[in-house]
Amino acid sequence: MPVTDTRTEPPIGPADDSQRSRVYFFDTTLRDGEQSPGCTMHRGEKLRLAHQIAALGVDILEAGFAIASEGDSESIRLIAREVGSSANAPIIASLARCKREDVEAAARSVEPAARARIHTFLSTSDLHLAAKLQITRAQALDQIAEMVALAKSYRDDVEFSPEDATRTDRDFLIKVCEVAIQAGATTLNLPDTVGYCIPRDYAQMFLDVRARVPGIRGANGEDNIILSAHCHDDLGLAVANTIASVEAGVRQVECAINGIGERAGNASLEELAAIFVTRRDKLPYKHNIVMSKLYPTSQMLAECIAFGAAPNKAIVGANAFAHAAGIHQHGVMVNPLTYEIMTPASVGVPHNSLVLGKHSGRRALEQRYVELGHPLTREQLNAVYTRFTELADRKKTIYDQDLLALLKPEQKVSAIA
Ligand code: MN
Repeated sequence: MPVTDTRTEPPIGPADDSQRSRVYFFDTTLRDGEQSPGCTMHRGEKLRLAHQIAALGVDILEAGFAIASEGDSESIRLIAREVGSSANAPIIASLARCKREDVEAAARSVEPAARARIHTFLSTSDLHLAAKLQITRAQALDQIAEMVALAKSYRDDVEFSPEDATRTDRDFLIKVCEVAIQAGATTLNLPDTVGYCIPRDYAQMFLDVRARVPGIRGANGEDNIILSAHCHDDLGLAVANTIASVEAGVRQVECAINGIGERAGNASLEELAAIFVTRRDKLPYKHNIVMSKLYPTSQMLAECIAFGAAPNKAIVGANAFAHAAGIHQHGVMVNPLTYEIMTPASVGVPHNSLVLGKHSGRRALEQRYVELGHPLTREQLNAVYTRFTELADRKKTIYDQDLLALLKPEQKVSAIA
């Protein structure tokens, strides 16, 4: 069926020297994330989030899986039109199996975008070929060649993913990558679909592919093809595996806000973004993420789906910048660097919270009273602190109204004096 040919956009690539150390962020919150339990969103929520994710500075926004439903393809089309039509918008991508109707649906849904990508995939591990697809390796290669070429007829920017790459026979994976490149793929994404890899092995796979697949390395020493990581967190290694792969030549990281995604989720976007900023001494890669939008984006996602980030979640969890132990509280008040490797403000958290509880010290209490507009003398503080510890033994968290209640006798004393 007819699809407008809008192949005017150059695919992002490492040919530009100024982008040598750039890591591209590929957000799949609205695809891998949205298809996981509790994360279903309706069209209006997807559009609102897509605007926010674009403002966050991601390079590629995977908006959905067009063939999955009429609603999905309409949402992608809406996002392509409303979010993806401006010059500095992210590339809008749709997922597609290696099937003609999938690729055509993906091409139709991303059509309004100024820059768009068709992301097609096929399982390549023997287990998936036999149990799931019931095809031979030779048939898989034919299907990949044909469907990547079909995608290429619609868009210059084509990503291919050999699903279950980390459990695919290595020699066969090399062949798969070669075939996909010959058919026109510009990004090769090698997913750890089942979250089984450890960092060293995930990195080694990319080193092998980069060394052995013809056409990845250009004559100038820069890669012609973008290698991409897509990691799942079944063993809690999604972010670690992704970082290891970047050190092995990967330049696109697939990730999701709050780490949502199939099963234990995808690599968390905010963790990756913060690692590259906080540890730029060890990981000298640039990215475009607007750090101060991380927390607001995390909050907006939580409003749209059934759950928010766990309180102890890195970067965006409620406790990520909370200091409850007295010694820590004192340290942070004297110099935040004592226990904070990044400022809450830098990732958009309004202010750090000194959580007052039975482990809190006198100085934290004194500071909170100052913030509440009640500076205390040393005697007043001593008296209030005794009552505070008694209350904290009975009550897990002490709120500001509790503190004001504790203060009343002191205020009376002050008034009489
Ligand atoms: Mn996935």
